[in-house]
Amino acid sequence: MITGKNCIAGDFSAKGSIEFKTMDPKLNIENPTTFVEVTKEEIEEAVSSAWDAFKAYRKVSGKQRATFLNAIADEIQALDQELIDTYTTESGLPEGRAIGERGRTMNQLRSFAQLVETEDWRGNTFDAAQPDRKPLPKDDLRKTMIPLGPVAVFGASNFPLAYSTAGGDTASALAAGCPVIVKSHPMHAGTSELVASAIVKAAEKTGMPKGVFSSINGGVQAGVDLVSHPKVKAVGFTGSITGGRALFDIASKREEPIPVFAEMGSINPVIITPDAISKRGKDIAKTYAGSITLGTGQFCTNPGLLLTVKNENTQDFINELAKETIALDPQCMLHPNIKSGYDKNEADVTSQSGVQVVGKVDEELEPNYAASVVATVSGSEFLANPKLHQEVFGPFSLVVQCKDDAELLQIIEGLEGQLTGTLIAEENGTLDLMELVDALQNRVGRIIYNGVPTGVEVCPSMQHGGPYPASTDSRFTAVGVHAIKRWVRPISYQSFPQTLLPEYLKG
Ligand code: NAP
Repeated sequence: MITGKNCIAGDFSAKGSIEFKTMDPKLNIENPTTFVEVTKEEIEEAVSSAWDAFKAYRKVSGKQRATFLNAIADEIQALDQELIDTYTTESGLPEGRAIGERGRTMNQLRSFAQLVETEDWRGNTFDAAQPDRKPLPKDDLRKTMIPLGPVAVFGASNFPLAYSTAGGDTASALAAGCPVIVKSHPMHAGTSELVASAIVKAAEKTGMPKGVFSSINGGVQAGVDLVSHPKVKAVGFTGSITGGRALFDIASKREEPIPVFAEMGSINPVIITPDAISKRGKDIAKTYAGSITLGTGQFCTNPGLLLTVKNENTQDFINELAKETIALDPQCMLHPNIKSGYDKNEADVTSQSGVQVVGKVDEELEPNYAASVVATVSGSEFLANPKLHQEVFGPFSLVVQCKDDAELLQIIEGLEGQLTGTLIAEENGTLDLMELVDALQNRVGRIIYNGVPTGVEVCPSMQHGGPYPASTDSRFTAVGVHAIKRWVRPISYQSFPQTLLPEYLKG
């Protein structure tokens, strides 16, 4: 049963007086549970317990941490239909998506469990002593990775399970040996509480220290207090550029600055060559209509910007794309605030000089359902107007018609950092593909050939993170097992006796 309380070091607590409710966006009504926002005292308790837990948890063996992570996955499964129903009523997303995302969340937990079963992930290096080396002897040196300390995780609005309470950030931090304090996303506080209860049960069953996990409900101030707390040592965030940047700035200005791994906005440019359009324009239009509207466009990898070089086929392709896009059934957005943000940003872009709306769903829609939009603009207008470069979070895409290859390259080179970039092309076409790849790879974290950016495979070779503002540190990924690297730091042991070395550095 959902209590509406905060989960502080394994206990459910509601000392505060500020209350809120989540929304059912499909019915456009509030859900019944009343949630209580965390107090400063409860934040202090959560962080202090995490700090105490860290002293023990960092020494818990990889095998035991793996048992803990697998137990979390089992407990999430055991939440059964209550979790699925809470997820769908708090997000407006369909049951199939809820079940799929639950599977992905459990798989992520299990893949981090498998990773830390052995110590290989630390990439330990050993340099044997050379006492007789001339002119100076060399000491025994061993380098490994150790956890940073308590991590604050901000749950994402658009992934109530896979990037929230037990999502990729939490799973990777716990795998690394870091306790976690989650600030649940206020749009799905019930889903978060259920998952928090699963983590608490798993921690109890596997004998983990009490403060290893907490989850708090709250607004902006709770997030600020958490990131400012001296015992919090790193932050994971998924959401808006405004939110991520604000937290990054707070973390940088602390007496002890800490890393913030924020995954933020992206318009995911897709370059479609004229040759590809003339050869298979209809297929590309159909595929892209599906990608633009997938999940009501509420994915960080949504293709918000299509770039091409204008010729006699371009307008037909854009008309086809618009036709296919608006033919798909409109879907509900996550929350009235996300819907109003979509309407505002879409209007903001489509009202700019030179922008033409080619297709927009114009039927009467239920509240919180989004009208998909395809618009177009010339390359020169796009270059001249930074407003056209902003993310429109929802089922929207802007097609930019460049006058020639040089203008296309200029646009690519001037783009802000992106999570993904896609090239739709024919290998023996008229454009210099290597030139496009060179320009694109400099702006993105993942480059796709003849595919769509939506659908992020969870595997070691996935890079999910790109140059700012796609993320705050493009050297790391938020998806796949390498995400663990965000929560550890290197340390060298010099001339250490075997008895004082960690088990995995002995020998
Ligand atoms: P958000 O507004 O950035 O909020 C994410 C989390 O950060 C929430 O818990 C929020 O708390 C907190 N937060 C926001 N600003 C903060 C600040 N200045 N200081 C401390 N905490 C702060 O993102 P969202 O609610 O998920 O969605 C809003 C918009 O973000 C969307 O419409 C979309 O444009 C964008 N978005 C992008 C992606 C992407 O992957 N590209 C994903 C999700 C959202 P409160 O809710 O209490 O403010």
